[in-house]
Amino acid sequence: HGEFNQKIDYVFKLVLIGDAAVGKSQLLARFARNEFSVDSKATIGVEFQTRTLAINEKTIKAQIWDTAGQERYRAVTSAYYRGAVGAMLIYDITKRQSFDHVARWLEELRSHADRNIVIMLIGNKSDLGSLRAVPTEDAKEFAQRENLFFMETSALEATNVENAFQTGLTEIYGNVS
Ligand code: GDP
Ligand code: MG
Repeated sequence: HGEFNQKIDYVFKLVLIGDAAVGKSQLLARFARNEFSVDSKATIGVEFQTRTLAINEKTIKAQIWDTAGQERYRAVTSAYYRGAVGAMLIYDITKRQSFDHVARWLEELRSHADRNIVIMLIGNKSDLGSLRAVPTEDAKEFAQRENLFFMETSALEATNVENAFQTGLTEIYGNVS
């Protein structure tokens, strides 16, 4: 896998936030290990996963933190956000409520995280188009207003997952280099 003896230029901490069951852990499994599990249990234990990749010819180690079932309002601690240079704020395109809560997550993120944090709004489960409850346009407008990057993904079908993380990491790299 070529990761042996690799010189790491940057380590970037990213955090995943959003309501329970929107697919945070599966997006991470897809990005870090190219895996997906249908019966994924509520996240337990593991704090973060890493993947090393090349961005603009630099070797970047992405250290991605996943909530351990702390999705209740205000339950995510400031330690979780500490040092994060990027955040994926995820909702489920089939669950209107998970999108309605995005503003709340954003507020929490902005009160805890660094001012320059790169934020991606992610509408996950794009494979379930027939059950869609959040129009793409609504999310796009919200993202524009709040200065967020926006993308719809499917962890199940691996659609846009690589793209979303690459976009976020490239933007972060642009901020630090
Ligand atoms: P979390 O609580 O935000 O970490 O959500 P999980 O990653 O545990 O996913 C919750 C449920 O949604 C699980 O049953 C997953 O298999 C399912 N899921 C996650 N991502 C997708 C996706 O892109 N498409 C579909 N159809 N299901 C997904
Ligand atoms: Mg989880």
